[in-house]
Amino acid sequence: MTGRFAPSPTGEMHLGNVLAALLSWLSARQQGGLWRLRIEDLDPQRSRQEYADRLMRDLEWLGLTWDGEVVYQSQRTAIYEQYLQQLHELTYPCTCTRNEILAAQAPHESDGRVVYPGTCRPNGVESQKSKVESLITSVDRPAAIRLMVPDEMIEYEDRVYGHQSVNLATHCGDFILRRSDGVFAYQLAVVVDDAEMGVTEIVRGRDLLLSAAQQHYLRRILGFTQPVYCHHPLLVNTQGQRLCKRDQSLAVSAMRQHSTAEQIIGKLAYTIGLTPTPEPVTAEQLIPIFSWTKIPQQDITVG
Ligand code: GLU
Repeated sequence: MTGRFAPSPTGEMHLGNVLAALLSWLSARQQGGLWRLRIEDLDPQRSRQEYADRLMRDLEWLGLTWDGEVVYQSQRTAIYEQYLQQLHELTYPCTCTRNEILAAQAPHESDGRVVYPGTCRPNGVESQKSKVESLITSVDRPAAIRLMVPDEMIEYEDRVYGHQSVNLATHCGDFILRRSDGVFAYQLAVVVDDAEMGVTEIVRGRDLLLSAAQQHYLRRILGFTQPVYCHHPLLVNTQGQRLCKRDQSLAVSAMRQHSTAEQIIGKLAYTIGLTPTPEPVTAEQLIPIFSWTKIPQQDITVG
């Protein structure tokens, strides 16, 4: 059994990241498995080595130790390229801009999701770009690479949220594997890395619960076995917004000024329902009492 933590080094580690790391570490350690660390620094504009370094110091300070070498996605682009080649019969270049995609959206997509309308899909039945238009745009616009998705239900189980059934054609449409600036998309990188690192259990926030459908499909067509998925509720602030890198007071670096690692872990364990009181505790001490059945589905407010 192998678990993993896969943070993006785009800011300070905050309590929400600690929760993902702690639950994944506890589940792996309880099963006597390995726990791997992968730095998701694919986007050169947003990722900084300094944040990756701080993140590792914070994990060590919290007592969340990892096994083996740290994997950096930025060093693996040649590998992603190989897998992209393997999928070439199912992919196509796309020169649509975000505005063009938004303009072609069906009016009922009101939840902020962007569903790609299939404009550049070869032989697409949708509103295809004219040949002349594609020729012009392919000269002066770099193309993204999209994966054709089937119009069928993708079914998978989540340990916390139960059975999931998602139709990719209506959920996101043909999705991007490599952006037009050449950066590989999270969906492809995460699937390739989890498979190559031997990850068998994926623990992370429920904001990625539906992304698992894209990953499930990609794993299927690449011939990888499916992992166990465990998505956890999110920590939200008193306004009900998900904690993010801007919530400075809940950054581990800020909390380290006035709390011990045991105090932070003790409070977090209590908040998520693992312990009856918020007493200080080490991550190690939580291993025997950890259970997925204690983890709720509803998001949790922290102040
Ligand atoms: N890198 C992603 C994040 O920091 C997590 C990806 C994953 O766990 O699959 O939100």
